[in-house]
Amino acid sequence: MKKYKMWIGGNWVDADSGKTYPVFNPATEAEIGQVPLCGKADVDKAVEAAQKAFPIWSKKPQAERSQIAMKIATLIRENAQELGRIDTEEHGTPAKMAAFMAAEKSLDFEWAAFNARSLMGHTVPQSSENLIYLQHEPIGVVALITPWNFPLSMILVKLAPALTLGNTIVIKPPSIDSLGALKLAELLDTLGLPPGTINVITGPGGIVGEALASHRGVNMISFTGSCETGKTIMGLASKTVKRLHLELGGKNPVIILDDADINAAVAETSFFQFLNGGQICASPGRYYVHEKVYDEFIEKYLAATKKIVVGDPNDMKTDMGPLVSLTHRDSVEGYIRSAVDQGAKVILGGKRPTSPPMNKGCYVMPTIITNINQNMKIGREEVFGPVACFMEKFSSDSKVIEMANDTTFGLTSYVWTKDTARAMRIANEIAAGTVMINQIGAPAPELPWGGYKESGIGKESSLYGLYEYTNIKRVQVKL
Ligand code: NDP
Repeated sequence: MKKYKMWIGGNWVDADSGKTYPVFNPATEAEIGQVPLCGKADVDKAVEAAQKAFPIWSKKPQAERSQIAMKIATLIRENAQELGRIDTEEHGTPAKMAAFMAAEKSLDFEWAAFNARSLMGHTVPQSSENLIYLQHEPIGVVALITPWNFPLSMILVKLAPALTLGNTIVIKPPSIDSLGALKLAELLDTLGLPPGTINVITGPGGIVGEALASHRGVNMISFTGSCETGKTIMGLASKTVKRLHLELGGKNPVIILDDADINAAVAETSFFQFLNGGQICASPGRYYVHEKVYDEFIEKYLAATKKIVVGDPNDMKTDMGPLVSLTHRDSVEGYIRSAVDQGAKVILGGKRPTSPPMNKGCYVMPTIITNINQNMKIGREEVFGPVACFMEKFSSDSKVIEMANDTTFGLTSYVWTKDTARAMRIANEIAAGTVMINQIGAPAPELPWGGYKESGIGKESSLYGLYEYTNIKRVQVKL
């Protein structure tokens, strides 16, 4: 069994305690590696290393840091097959998309490289005797705490702006699937960055994540994960008033109006619902279908879902692999049981597959549940699994807007109609960071992403995302 080391201050090290923990393949339940079980002492070392590197890295010319970002883009692209292979092995991502997904993140580094070079300050007109200018400066040590659902992509999307703009970094990857982060460290080690510019430490969120959130030497936490953990981090970070960027959960409404192109809506939503086993923050969380088209939509959605190929993620025919872990499978099954107990109806799936090789591993079949109301647990909480939740039918736009907004979340939302003005009126009323009309758009480095309400604070990607990783300084000169 391969025993991994973590990367602190440019060195490959074991945990101070010497302890490790296992990482499993979710498709086979086989152990695939032992990873250092970091404790508080290791967090201190990583933060100290990042603090030491900060004056060196932050003072490098932006052009030089941007060149490094371009090199990282190339490294990611050149190693996408291997990064994808690790993703398939530790997360269950179908091989037919894993390498592509890794390669795509090179775009974030290219985008950050170009845009950081033109992240200009401003002058503020006040009086001819005063010159006032604003400049962006790196924040300091930034800790990236990331979730398991896209174990590498969620790190890269943050690392690109944070590093390129001159911050030094401590990455705390998800415990369940941390091998991709360690492979990334191996690739970054070839760049000859000042030691400690990037550090990768592995270990449980309750210890490593909390130590980072509380640490006086950490200036910013950029976190993606559940609302619950986000709130814990906010509490801990408040003691040292850290900058926070929080990308949290969603229970995203999909509104199908009576004049929607049903075939297009079914094709896109049913594909996206089960992508990555539904373990995507942007996954449809609640379908609201107009009463006039409800039966047609369900019938077509059912037919489309039945075509999804569930199987061994290494098989190029597989659309959907296992869920990430047995614990997460139990959580998803718990939601399905709660829905049935509260009177909802499972019209497809709801079970584990029984045929080999899926009689082992963390599989749940694509599931469709109807007759869900606003008060049911499954209608309110994020399932984060392959479960399409169909809410009560609706008949008026005002009612569906009210139901869509009746949630603590506000991440994203989808509206399908041929009447663009109607869609835009609804978009104005939906309390969410993104509204997509007649499409499920893919993420891109130039597009801001982030939630309203309890779905988060701040924006990932785009110029807004770059600003997250800078302080703005006002310099005022008496002439
Ligand atoms: P968690 O919140 O459980 O974990 C996320 C990260 O936080 C992990 O690295 C975890 O470590 C760490 N962590 C856990 N507990 C603590 C703690 N007490 N203090 C500090 N860090 C901690 O989320 P999941 O990994 O389960 O990810 C799924 C969630 O992420 C979903 O809610 C999903 O919606 C959200 N998400 C949001 C996105 C967005 O863009 N808005 C994108 C992707 C996912 P460990 O792994 O060791 O437990």
